[in-house]
Amino acid sequence: QAKVAGKNCYRFYSRAMDQAVERRVHLEHELRGAWDRGELSLVYQPVYRLADGLMVGAEALLRWQHPQQGLIAPSVFIDVAEQSGLIETLGPQVLRTACRDAVGWQEARASGEPMFVSVNVSPRQLRSGDLPQSVAESLADTGLDANRLHIELTETAVIGDEVHASALLSQLRAFGVKVWLDDFGTGFSGLSHLRRVPVDGVKIDRSFIADVLRDPDDLALTTAIIAMAHSLGITVVAEGVEREGQYAILRERGCDLAQGYWLGHPVSNDEFMTLLH
Ligand code: C2E
Ligand code: MG
Ligand code: MG
Ligand code: MG
Repeated sequence: QAKVAGKNCYRFYSRAMDQAVERRVHLEHELRGAWDRGELSLVYQPVYRLADGLMVGAEALLRWQHPQQGLIAPSVFIDVAEQSGLIETLGPQVLRTACRDAVGWQEARASGEPMFVSVNVSPRQLRSGDLPQSVAESLADTGLDANRLHIELTETAVIGDEVHASALLSQLRAFGVKVWLDDFGTGFSGLSHLRRVPVDGVKIDRSFIADVLRDPDDLALTTAIIAMAHSLGITVVAEGVEREGQYAILRERGCDLAQGYWLGHPVSNDEFMTLLH
């Protein structure tokens, strides 16, 4: 009896797996031409400075408007792009678009505070080694000041390959581009990386921020990250600020920058431009 059930289970799982693989292959196929068909676009989430409440930049986030499935989140397709290698053509397109849009912001805010744009880069983009050249081209083609561009990398992109990663990041920083470590605190060896990998900022993962008002441990960790980063001369950004109380406590603890739904959702570039006025 058990054997029969086992066999059936196996068959069931194997069919489910086949379907998952099939969906993935299909998605990859559709993603291949998505940029050229205009289905992919960037939205921008504002980043605020806690000391004075001023908007100082924005993070570029990719969106896929699929003709049948509607809006697909990056958590679904970035993985596909990464594993298929598509990210190597998509990445430079994202970079160039973000730089071009940020030049527009600068013009819209001619007299105001300079704005940065922050672009996510996946592990494969870093490993390919093309990143410094692709960044240099985007800056040259659009005319964006290098120090207005921030590159966000997750800890997983640098773990295990610190020497290579450090060399690439040093090249970027030599241009004047700033490097931020994203989802900080979720990896295992977060703090020790900061000694070997040159970064300008860390973004505290939103899982810490989520409970910062209720869980004393999360508040202690967040406060420690802020103190540690500042002692190393590193900027601290909090992500996932969804309530006023979180904003207030981060500000009190000396966090530099923040983003989150309470401050602003990601919006199209057109909408973002109206926020600047
Ligand atoms: P991330 O870089 O950590 O981006 C922050 C994510 O948190 C975004 O999700 C954003 O919409 C979401 N978020 C912002 N504020 C809040 C908040 O207050 N509460 C909550 N619950 N969420 C908030 P999104 O846009 O779905 O992006 C997911 C991930 O996909 C990003 O995480 C990033 O790792 C990746 N990604 C997005 N765009 C790109 C891209 O152009 N290239 C690459 N390589 N990866 C990208
Ligand atoms: Mg990010
Ligand atoms: Mg993040
Ligand atoms: Mg994240």
